[in-house]
Amino acid sequence: MAKTSEENRIESLRGELARHDELYYRQAQPEVSDSEYDALKRELEDLEKQHPELFSMDSPTNRVGDDLRDGFESYQHRQPMKSLDNTYSKDEFFAFVERVEKGLELEEIAFVVEPKIDGVAVSLTYENGKLIRAVTRGNGTEGDDITANVLSIKELPRVLKGADLPATIEIRGEIYMRNDEFDRINAERNAAGLEEFANPRNLAAGTVKMLDREEVAKRRLNVILYGLGFCEPQIVDAQSEFHAKIAEWVFPVGERFWKISGADEAWASIEELDSIREALPYPTDGAVIKVDSLEQQDLLGATSKAPRWAIAFKFAAEQSETTLENITIQVGRTGVLTPVAELKPTKLAGTTVSRATLHNQEEMERKDVRIGDSVIVEKAGEIIPAVVRVLVEKRPNNSIPFVFPAECPACEAPTQKLECEVALRCVNTECPAQVRGRLEHFASRQCMDIDGLGEAVVDQLVERSLVSTLSDVYRLTFEQLLELEKFAEKSARNLIDAINRSKRADLWRLLHGLGIPQVGASAAKDLAKAFGGLAELQNADLEGLIEIDGIGEKTAQGIVTYFENPKNAANLEMLYELGMDPVTPEVPSGAEAIFDGMTFVITGTLPTMKRDEAKALIESKGGKVAGSVSKKTTYLLAGEAAGSKLTKAEKHGVEVLSEASLLERIGK
Ligand code: NAD
Repeated sequence: MAKTSEENRIESLRGELARHDELYYRQAQPEVSDSEYDALKRELEDLEKQHPELFSMDSPTNRVGDDLRDGFESYQHRQPMKSLDNTYSKDEFFAFVERVEKGLELEEIAFVVEPKIDGVAVSLTYENGKLIRAVTRGNGTEGDDITANVLSIKELPRVLKGADLPATIEIRGEIYMRNDEFDRINAERNAAGLEEFANPRNLAAGTVKMLDREEVAKRRLNVILYGLGFCEPQIVDAQSEFHAKIAEWVFPVGERFWKISGADEAWASIEELDSIREALPYPTDGAVIKVDSLEQQDLLGATSKAPRWAIAFKFAAEQSETTLENITIQVGRTGVLTPVAELKPTKLAGTTVSRATLHNQEEMERKDVRIGDSVIVEKAGEIIPAVVRVLVEKRPNNSIPFVFPAECPACEAPTQKLECEVALRCVNTECPAQVRGRLEHFASRQCMDIDGLGEAVVDQLVERSLVSTLSDVYRLTFEQLLELEKFAEKSARNLIDAINRSKRADLWRLLHGLGIPQVGASAAKDLAKAFGGLAELQNADLEGLIEIDGIGEKTAQGIVTYFENPKNAANLEMLYELGMDPVTPEVPSGAEAIFDGMTFVITGTLPTMKRDEAKALIESKGGKVAGSVSKKTTYLLAGEAAGSKLTKAEKHGVEVLSEASLLERIGK
């Protein structure tokens, strides 16, 4: 039987929301604003309510967004970590209070109103007052162990002091990045010619999930605690008491919360919070209203996704109406075509906005955005302005739909949509816009760090056809540089020197600079450490790559495909012919390399060593450390509270070592 249009819409919304969930929770790179996402989810919820026969257990409306990632050990929450129902409407908020009153058969319920911090959720487990683990929300049932990264937060107490410490307590809160820290990092990136991060929430979410501890330590994260998970024995009877308790334990807590009763007082507190939130040092996107009494919370219970005793009231992002004067298409270094709205300048959240993203062709067509339209622009997640809606009623009569170019606007080559991607790409790898992007990336501080080879110089080199591949950089002559605008003998000499110096860059810099799909700085470091040389990496197969700590299946596939491409292989050969000779870390040999050819996996808390130290020790003896147990694992190094990896190792018959037996083998 043919599907109805509503069935099709439900299916398409489920697919679209699942994609946005992946981008938001796992990659911390959302494409649409939260209010756009929430509008799509609301549309799906409404359609599912009208069509209960189309119910599906794994609809995005029925589960908590999943942030679990490869490379992290996961732990079961003792008490599930759910999401929150949310609303942008005052009427719906009052309806929530009515539902609670009806559910409890009481009037004038006591509530607590708290700021909704826009960061990433964390659950901290303390046993007998000692911090033993920090875990992400994950899929609500189990989360990723991010203890090592959370320990970079200085104000977080490692040990609690007090008379009535529970034996085990899970304290929940939000890791966030302060607005001033976010600005500092972006200013640094800007100076280095790197793309700026979109907003503090994404940067905080991306940072807690980094495997590169050094990089995490460079970015200052903060945390605020507000929630009680499992607690044995129970120590408080109300949310407001819990606030007082964690403040006493010197946890960082929000400046303010409101304890009030009834809908009107709650609403007044929400409004007050909205009026002061600009001055708060952390990003907020709403208010969370919770029933104060824990007993009443228990009576109300929860759905599979969220508690019935709380709701998030979300503050709408700042919006402004303006005219869309033109649509231009930007081509990035990977060939992705991004439509950009050129706007009549308009004031938005304190800045003048004249350009906004239209995300991609599909999004643009869905919203039917046309040149000449009156549009609503929103500052999505504080930074990147986006066109959220077209005011169709104001559309000029002569308006025509925008036709997305079939050819690349920079080189006129055909464009193509790859399977499972929404982006349209220019297929011509010699496209000048891509060449420019690749060169800027290659020379940037995060990659080969070639001082003097910035955007303006790259533009000229590409325009004059002096450079079209990465290896061409190493053919540039002093005389050619002298011909460029604003170049004199000294600057030309300096640039030649910087280019020559880069031939001896660290291997990871070259790997990052090549622009291999999915390989950022952190993956490049893991690969350099694991393989030690480019030739070894080029010969690696998919399985071998997946074994590497920090390399997931998608990245591994990207690497294999990259090296299979004859053009890339030829480019690399040329780079080597022109003197590229990257530096590789020293690999232990002979008697020192007692773990040569062996793969370790580490799990649990070791008695004296941090995991990083154990990893460095194993590597210094020639061993490799992988993120998950497989049949290739030689040893599982297990400490206290080892989780699912221990079970898996036992199943695969992998030998389990303690820290003491590891040290014994090393002769320490
Ligand atoms: P949520 O962020 O709306 O609310 C639940 C979360 O709020 C909790 O898990 C907790 O981490 C946090 N929180 C902050 N302050 C709190 C406080 N005082 N008390 C309790 N919790 C507090 O829900 P979610 O499930 O994490 O995410 C769903 C929301 O995320 C969506 O509504 C949408 O706005 C956004 N999202 C956006 C995209 C996108 O592509 N833009 C994709 C997925 C989700």
